Amino acid sequence: MAVPKAKVSKARRDKRRSNVWKLALPGMVKCPKCGEYNLSHRVCKACGFYNGKEIVKKEA
Ligand SMILES: [Zn+2]
Repeated sequence: MAVPKAKVSKARRDKRRSNVWKLALPGMVKCPKCGEYNLSHRVCKACGFYNGKEIVKKEA
């Protein structure tokens, strides 16, 4: 049977379960082109750019 090598303290265990370490915006990154927050690994919905290229044409 697997046995824990070291007991996790109440503080460490409760911190893990709490929200202190979780990002407020999960998976959100700032667009390098327009500074808009977008889902990572997705085309920017504000300017249509992804990986330095214009993927979706947007009206100026
Ligand atoms: Zn953008």
